[in-house]
Amino acid sequence: MGVLQNPYRGLFLCGSGIDFCGKSSQVLRICNWLRANLADKNIAVLRTKQPTTQRFGRMIRSILGDKQLFAQTDPFDLQELFAKDSRMHCEMEVIPGLEAGHIVCTDRFRESMVYGAEKGNVIELHMLMEMNQQLHRRYWVWPDKVFIFDVPPELAIERGKASGRSFDEMERLDTLARVRENFYIFAREYPEANLHFIDGSRSIEEIFSDVKSELLKLLNANGIKLS
Ligand code: ADP
Repeated sequence: MGVLQNPYRGLFLCGSGIDFCGKSSQVLRICNWLRANLADKNIAVLRTKQPTTQRFGRMIRSILGDKQLFAQTDPFDLQELFAKDSRMHCEMEVIPGLEAGHIVCTDRFRESMVYGAEKGNVIELHMLMEMNQQLHRRYWVWPDKVFIFDVPPELAIERGKASGRSFDEMERLDTLARVRENFYIFAREYPEANLHFIDGSRSIEEIFSDVKSELLKLLNANGIKLS
């Protein structure tokens, strides 16, 4: 029980971490860099995101954007919606891309289930993993590498404010602190989940340079050549 190593031809990458940690900036760089440098131009680089804009993803956003609705929603029910959204994402986008031998790079995947557990609650993490696996049915797959851009929650909130974005109900200092801790615990509980922590408090280019050295190892191990 747990993660399922990617059985498909394509490479599956994920950028993650707490809100405003800088993951989408890095996912964009990963995709652009791969597109510019892959030797085989038949390999497409598919940039994608969870939650999606499909029906369960829209339900999630409406809950996260509404203080009252959020307060009335059982946290596990919310996590079920994330898992159902992910199942559709895997069925419609991720797995078809991987089966075709493409590189799929997602902004968040199921490591983000850690949002649903109390701080350090390993039993809840295990329950969430089990629930995710069951709800995905045969569309269960796991990234070859999950980059966690690790930043103090205070810095994340600062970046969020500076970006001028509105905050949803998960984007609070206490939640981000709990989630940051839970990522570490998740990595310890599921070493096969391929989480790779990178210090995200530096400049975008410094962070990307670390990402690139990990990517080079991964491409090499998978026989993917650069031009
Ligand atoms: P996320 O996808 O995790 O919410 P973003 O990549 O959208 O994060 O970044 C959040 C904000 O912080 C954006 O305004 C972005 O330009 C800025 N940002 C991202 N990475 C860095 C960094 N390393 N240093 C400073 N600002 C950053």
